[in-house]
Amino acid sequence: MSNLDRQASLAVGGGRGFVVAEPVRELLSPRRVQLGESTEVRRLLPNLGRRMVGAWAFVDHYGPDDIADEPGMQVPPHPHIGLQTVSWLHEGEVLHRDSLGSLQTIRPRELGLMTAGRAISHSEESPRPHARFLHGAQLWVALPEAHRHVEPHFQHHAELPVVTAPGLTATVILGSLDGARSPGTTYSPLVGADLALTAGTGTRLPLDPDFEYAVLTMSGEAEADGVPLLPGSMLYLGCGRSELPLRAASDAGLMLLGGEPFEEELVMWWNFIGRSDTEIVEAREAWIKGDRFGDVHGFDGPRLSAPTLPTSPLKPRGRVR
Ligand code: MN
Repeated sequence: MSNLDRQASLAVGGGRGFVVAEPVRELLSPRRVQLGESTEVRRLLPNLGRRMVGAWAFVDHYGPDDIADEPGMQVPPHPHIGLQTVSWLHEGEVLHRDSLGSLQTIRPRELGLMTAGRAISHSEESPRPHARFLHGAQLWVALPEAHRHVEPHFQHHAELPVVTAPGLTATVILGSLDGARSPGTTYSPLVGADLALTAGTGTRLPLDPDFEYAVLTMSGEAEADGVPLLPGSMLYLGCGRSELPLRAASDAGLMLLGGEPFEEELVMWWNFIGRSDTEIVEAREAWIKGDRFGDVHGFDGPRLSAPTLPTSPLKPRGRVR
């Protein structure tokens, strides 16, 4: 998905200044963002109180929305640099097209992983016909300096490793959890996992003390480390944990996001992650001119136009809140 916010604002992130070295329990509220005419998403990252969790730099949670009589998701072609996009669905399907010629339907609990690297463009849409409900999350992973100019590529993995405990099914989306590793390509130590809990479950999830973590609630009623999780909210957990106590009063769907704190300072604007003002300005110019990002074929409609740049210069910083 794209950041379709017409008042695209600057976000900065990365750097040690944001990371909490010890375990904490910091509940982050979503910001409601209108995408196009019919879709509203809840944005968890970047958040006023927190920009990143490991290399995870952007998290939108959407639905469940009844799109039986609606076009559903319609995100026209738009560019990316310096990041990977992760599409994760609980209900419905999304048709992905990109400038490499990829054409892929992504279904619930399948990984759609697009590595933008130096430049890519893509579109995402609800196919026609489509399922009645659409429910999912769109996430971005920031690429570290050594890999952020890699050649763009797209991966689809329908089969992902699963870790189970009584009442818990954890699907490893990216990185590794409890020894199980996702086939998705990663460029920094991180994890993304889908946690399906059944009603009445009490369990402990093994964690890496060197990672910082957060848990996003997609559905149901659950608790992480004793904190009640409201659907649509995200609990930041800090670092220094070797396990996470989880409880569920009802069937619940969570996402665990974690990773080594992302030490490089970065600049995020619209659909770009870079390191400097100049880089972002150049990427925007290239998109406007039709250079560098290739063409997406088959999407029914015009591509997205770039928003206006903010008037103040974009500077990478690590401590801004
Ligand atoms: Mn996108």
